Amino acid sequence: MQVKTILNRLQHFKSFVYGAVRWVERGTTLALAVEVRPRRGSRGVCSGCGQCRPGYDSLPVRHFEFVPLWGMKVFLVYAPRRVNCPDCGVKVERMPWAEGKGRLTETYAWFLASWAKRLSWKEVAEVFQTSWDQVFQAVERAVTWGRAHLDLSGVQSIGIDEIAWQKGHRYMTLVYQIDSPCKRLLWIGEKRTVKTLLRFFRWFGPERSHGLRFICSDMWKPYLKVIAKKASQATHVLDRFHIMAHLSQAIDDVRAQEVRELKAQGEEPVLTQTRWLLLKRPQRLSEKQTTRLSELLRHNLKTVRSYLLKEDFQRFWDYRSPAWARCFLDEWCARTLRSQLEPMKRVARMLRNHRELILNWFRAKGQLSSGVVEGFNNKAKLTTRKAFGFRTSYALQIALYHSLGALPQPNFTHRFF
Ligand SMILES: [Zn+2]
Repeated sequence: MQVKTILNRLQHFKSFVYGAVRWVERGTTLALAVEVRPRRGSRGVCSGCGQCRPGYDSLPVRHFEFVPLWGMKVFLVYAPRRVNCPDCGVKVERMPWAEGKGRLTETYAWFLASWAKRLSWKEVAEVFQTSWDQVFQAVERAVTWGRAHLDLSGVQSIGIDEIAWQKGHRYMTLVYQIDSPCKRLLWIGEKRTVKTLLRFFRWFGPERSHGLRFICSDMWKPYLKVIAKKASQATHVLDRFHIMAHLSQAIDDVRAQEVRELKAQGEEPVLTQTRWLLLKRPQRLSEKQTTRLSELLRHNLKTVRSYLLKEDFQRFWDYRSPAWARCFLDEWCARTLRSQLEPMKRVARMLRNHRELILNWFRAKGQLSSGVVEGFNNKAKLTTRKAFGFRTSYALQIALYHSLGALPQPNFTHRFF
């Protein structure tokens, strides 16, 4: 069987035919060059208006990189025609395998983009002997196409989250769809201000915003404000993941301060390397860690008291009735406010101030999957950490949309990946 027979079967372009396939030596490596010719009698399509137009002349041959075969690079080699268009003037013809001045064929760009979901961009560039930039451009094209073909119908629940990047100096707001059949990243905006979230609602549109049933977010004031204004009909839930994150942060603060105090008093360092013991859920600790934790808990330390308050708060999420949950919350807040643990008191005050929104958790129970935002948050962090070369927020956004956006793809006649 000939290579061109395979290509005709997998990647047939109307009005074009495959010609000879030749070896090309590129330095020490071998590549394949596949000649492409216009079908006899066919006319070029104007890249300006998309109409068939009479020919003008031909440009020198160009190489368009195609999907590699058996470890060899493959190029489609074609001399683009120029057409004489009465509407657009002299124009280069449209070539169905490539876009604009790009050196990659569409198929190869989709191929690279699909690998970039499984590997880091740097790895994709290494494996397929191409540059980081080419991979970036391929992913960018896939994201642009996917975003342009997004179907936003039926979005009922969204989760709003933020991630820090550039060593925590800058923030991005991420909005996810968290409906049970469809979970994906919907939108990214820079910073985490009122304006940021207003931009989301403008993009999402008033009609769809009014169709939202559940919104899940952190206790971040700008978000609360905008949600109340733009989607007041939705049940707004302050999610478990963020609330527990505030408590963990408080323990961290208490601990850091206590370590300093103990050091100043010349006490033995009981708290060194206990951070993870205190932040992890007890059931996730190893046997050795559990022993260490129970030793630590024997000390009457502020850190230990904070830890016990946090672990006690876990019971809150087991309630079924909002009324009982409210009793527990009030009792826990009162107890914590008497504790003289300043960072914990801060959280207790915050919880008390947002009591109704927190209790919405119980009103939405069963209708909202709770771990979704946390799961996405972890994945988003992983993407930013794998951020080889994502120096710009634009590149990072492209990466996030690509990995978390569940973006649509064109219908390919054959999938090369
Ligand atoms: Zn034209």
